[in-house]
Amino acid sequence: MEAEKDFEYVIDRFADIKIMRYKVPEFENLTLNQKIFIYYLSQAAQCGRDIIFDQFYRHNLLVRRTVDAIVSSYGGNRESGDFKQFMVYAKRVWFSNGVHHHYSCDKFFPEIDSETFKQLILNSDFSQMPKNAGESVADFANRVTEIIYSKSDLKRVSLDSSGDVVKASACNFYSGVSQAEVEAYNATLPLPDAARPLSNGLNSRLVKTDGRITEEIYRVGGKYGKAIEQIVSWLEKAVPYAETEQQRQSIEKLISYYQTGDLRTWDEYNTLWVSDNKPLVDFVNGFIEVYGDPLGIKATWESLVNFKDLTATRRTETISGNAQWFEDHAPIDSRFKKANVKGVTAKVITAVQLGGDCYPSTPIGINLPNADWIRKEHGSKSVTIENITYAYHQASLGCGMLDEFCHDEAERARSRKYGYQSSNLHTDLHECLGHGSGQLLPGTNPDALKNYSSTLEEARADLFALYYIADPKIVELGLLPDNEAFKAEYDSYIRNGLMTQLTRIVLGKDLEESHMRNRQLIARWALEKGKAENVVELLKIDGKSYTRINDYAKLRELFGNLLAEIQRIKSEGDYEAGKALVETYAVKIDRTLHAEVLQRFEKLNIAPYGGFVNPVLKPVVENGKITDITIDYTESYTEQMLRYGREFGFL
Ligand code: ZN
Repeated sequence: MEAEKDFEYVIDRFADIKIMRYKVPEFENLTLNQKIFIYYLSQAAQCGRDIIFDQFYRHNLLVRRTVDAIVSSYGGNRESGDFKQFMVYAKRVWFSNGVHHHYSCDKFFPEIDSETFKQLILNSDFSQMPKNAGESVADFANRVTEIIYSKSDLKRVSLDSSGDVVKASACNFYSGVSQAEVEAYNATLPLPDAARPLSNGLNSRLVKTDGRITEEIYRVGGKYGKAIEQIVSWLEKAVPYAETEQQRQSIEKLISYYQTGDLRTWDEYNTLWVSDNKPLVDFVNGFIEVYGDPLGIKATWESLVNFKDLTATRRTETISGNAQWFEDHAPIDSRFKKANVKGVTAKVITAVQLGGDCYPSTPIGINLPNADWIRKEHGSKSVTIENITYAYHQASLGCGMLDEFCHDEAERARSRKYGYQSSNLHTDLHECLGHGSGQLLPGTNPDALKNYSSTLEEARADLFALYYIADPKIVELGLLPDNEAFKAEYDSYIRNGLMTQLTRIVLGKDLEESHMRNRQLIARWALEKGKAENVVELLKIDGKSYTRINDYAKLRELFGNLLAEIQRIKSEGDYEAGKALVETYAVKIDRTLHAEVLQRFEKLNIAPYGGFVNPVLKPVVENGKITDITIDYTESYTEQMLRYGREFGFL
């Protein structure tokens, strides 16, 4: 797929962040009912925005409203350096849903000093500021800037277990309690059914006032009630448009949970939701992930509205439908093959609306629900969000990586033309077939490979994918357009394994993460084993290093050989051989090459983090009835953030 000229994916850039847009292909082809359903769910997805700001830090809403008021109404010179610096701060606050970096959790500060910040407040519309009753503009400016510039509450989530992580964390799940008090309190919460434990504490804030500890439950009429009421009212509008009876019941359960805060209802909702795979339209809306709590108990609010990507899902169905053929033809000893193999069908979805903890920084896949007992009894939904990964890919085409690290124009062109498609197929083969293929010999200890098992397991799944992506069967099944396309994946795999993945490692360190180890293992092994026939080459052009594949067919054979060996290691539990492979090829980094890669990467000045604006869904109303929902991609980052502040500010 060529980069699209008519649609700019990257629309803003500041600090260490780039802002992108994503397209919603096939939205126009949904039925009117499905569009209206999505519209109501999307409204519900935006109503919890204030919740996440407040959960992240008790002063975040105050800071954001001040920032919004300045951006909307500052009457001074908006072209000045100071104002531009302020805008960077504003955009960072919006991006992080508060004053702490979304990823590192460290508090960040404006580049301008506090006096300059006060001047911005004084030269803006005071009526828009979130001031206290009777508070003067000067008092207000002092109060807000003190919070913004204060050197306390520096870490949103502290995981430093040498101290009290609750006290050390600035997040707003706890107030006035110590870690010991929280743990003692949690131990008193009832667990009526030990086999199906409730997610106690998931949806509440724990507060100590006058020596008494109470739980403020997130629900209608309780904590965050004003925002939750709005979520509920949009969910109620959505109910009649549910696509199945089970989906209707699950939304009603969710509403009832939001009304009562009862975690039993939350589990009932999840049980209904996880087993309902028929509807095209689906959504997540609730207090779900617990990364924001140093104790991993309390959940941040998030939402994602989506519909099934039928084309991509057909792709993974084709793969898993042919699972036995792939197993039978794998280049491994027949004793290690499964007689009956079942492929996994990966579900692929298209996002329409991101909210709460999924916005603007977005996951590229989800795997829910989180409760272990529900996963065990009812399974889980695991999906990849294809239009988001596609937007990331399109954005990456313009970032200069290909220009810098491809050895010639042909490699670059191949990557632009086939890179996205072939790398998706690699992922599908890895996930749907690779991990599930092969079997242990009877009596082999499944834990025999110990600390090397995950690197070797990832290598096995990758090699399965690499071996088959070059098979004529792939073109025959319509999974790639022609016999050239796989070469883009071979190019990028070798380039990444030997060079570009090193951009994520600090100079002097070894590789630790198992996916990164596995990639270097495969690339370095192929480089060495193909040396005599010059299959893969690490060459220099004008003093810069590049990778080049000279013989794709031979490389495929090498991948097949390594797959056979790693399958043998796994099937027989050959720890020593596994250890030797990993230690020889996967851990140590060529220091000179690493330094060169880092230096070249730094010059590209690529934003390490990315996030998204949402498209705008607009109902077309005729005679009081919605006759269509249109989708618009033109809203800028700043426009969207200010509008969300106005339309969805409920707390
Ligand atoms: Zn894997």
